[in-house]
Amino acid sequence: MGGRAAPIIRVPMSQVRDQLWRTQSGLCALCGEPLPADRFSLPHASLWKKRQPTVDHVRPKSRGGGDEIGNLQLVHAVCNRRKGDFWRP
Ligand SMILES: [Zn+2]
Repeated sequence: MGGRAAPIIRVPMSQVRDQLWRTQSGLCALCGEPLPADRFSLPHASLWKKRQPTVDHVRPKSRGGGDEIGNLQLVHAVCNRRKGDFWRP
């Protein structure tokens, strides 16, 4: 492992994830490319680390966003990191 832990919420196999997955047809909300369903749909664990689906707050919590499903979206881990606190109302 090593390195700093990014402030990213790992997506649990939960209703939230399933619902977002269905709503977005398995596509990343930020880049529009398909999200991998699980680690084994990718050839290497390092790819999974970058492309695993993570839950992103549409409106960042730092800007008053909440944890309700309407404010959540599934995005690649890299896309989530790239976005940071950026928010376009
Ligand atoms: Zn993406």
